[in-house]
Amino acid sequence: MSTPAYAAAEAKSLLAPWTIERRAPAAHEVQIEIRYCGVCHSDIHQARAEWGGGIFPMVPGHEIVGHVGAVGSAVSRFKVGDTVGVGCFVDSCRECAACREGVEQYCSGGMTATYNSLERGTQQPTYGGYSTRVVVDENYVLRVPAGIPLDRAAPLLCAGITVYSPMRHYGVKAGDRLAVVGLGGLGHMGVKIARAMGAHVTVLSTSPSKRDDALKLGADDFEPTGDKQTFKKLAGQFDFILDTVSAPHDYNAYLGLLKRDGTMILVGMPDQPTPLSAGPLIMGRRRLVGSLIGGIRETQEMLDFCAVHNVASDIELIPISKINEAYERMIKGDVRYRFVIDCASFAKASA
Ligand code: NAP
Ligand code: ZN
Ligand code: ZN
Repeated sequence: MSTPAYAAAEAKSLLAPWTIERRAPAAHEVQIEIRYCGVCHSDIHQARAEWGGGIFPMVPGHEIVGHVGAVGSAVSRFKVGDTVGVGCFVDSCRECAACREGVEQYCSGGMTATYNSLERGTQQPTYGGYSTRVVVDENYVLRVPAGIPLDRAAPLLCAGITVYSPMRHYGVKAGDRLAVVGLGGLGHMGVKIARAMGAHVTVLSTSPSKRDDALKLGADDFEPTGDKQTFKKLAGQFDFILDTVSAPHDYNAYLGLLKRDGTMILVGMPDQPTPLSAGPLIMGRRRLVGSLIGGIRETQEMLDFCAVHNVASDIELIPISKINEAYERMIKGDVRYRFVIDCASFAKASA
């Protein structure tokens, strides 16, 4: 099926219209008519080959929501018309310990990413959600609960699960003091989800202009990181720090803000390494950890949690023609708080 998409022809080139072929769904696959796709900073890192290499032309997009348009003969979990989502991966080996435990994102054979990856056992590149339809094995498809507006649900498929998973894994609980570093797509979901878990949330941001938004999103406090006093004032205050920053920055300064036995969780993945001092970790037995998205089971749990707690992303809906502009604005920290592509705009783009 010939399908309109937007692709980066090569590393760092602007995204432009491109046509891809989507296969007919095999027995266990569902074909999804994509309604909305969120724009993640990882799309920029990959379309610009900032993490090293990449498969080009690349069609980014891994915050996909839409409706089931067709199902393969053996599909049992979904029917035509269901509201569904697809996140950062579309397959994994299904046999390794990670897959058996439901943390497919850590598959020892490597997960098959929704884009910038190869379909398992083939040389066929995967293409993501900056397009109008996608075909995915039913075991890697999520059910989007009724009640979450669909455009505002899209970012949950990556930004939402990426912050939810480590909060659950490391045991964030009511009353904990948690700081979110960086108020972008992941950061604003971090604020909402941590609040829904009952944590006391402080936003640490380079953008003083985001203060009012941070409080409206549910943060209890906002502190600008450009002010050196912030690091003195908040020393030793937090049980958790959730670091969502996309660019290199000094981890050591933030580690000093943790209490004894506090945990700093890295989810932001800058393209450059940054020096780490042993001192702030040793003094206070602090932990520095990382986390990658979340498994299928946990992503469903997160979607259901968001439906119960009335959590959805704050978005700016854009036509696909504005995607290059959206990238530039994200790099400047000018996103409130997730760009979401209205995939109906592909029809207009090609008309
Ligand atoms: P985003 O919307 O662009 O937000 C990043 C935020 O970081 C910005 O809004 C800004 O917030 C802050 N920031 C940017 N440049 C900065 C700098 N030089 N110094 C300090 N702060 C800066 O990006 P996102 O989509 O949330 O993604 C964030 C990062 O997470 C990316 O690296 C992405 O690849 C990664 N990611 C990881 C996973 C995972 O599984 N671990 C999943 C998805 C994304 P302020 O204006 O508030 O300072
Ligand atoms: Zn992402
Ligand atoms: Zn596996």
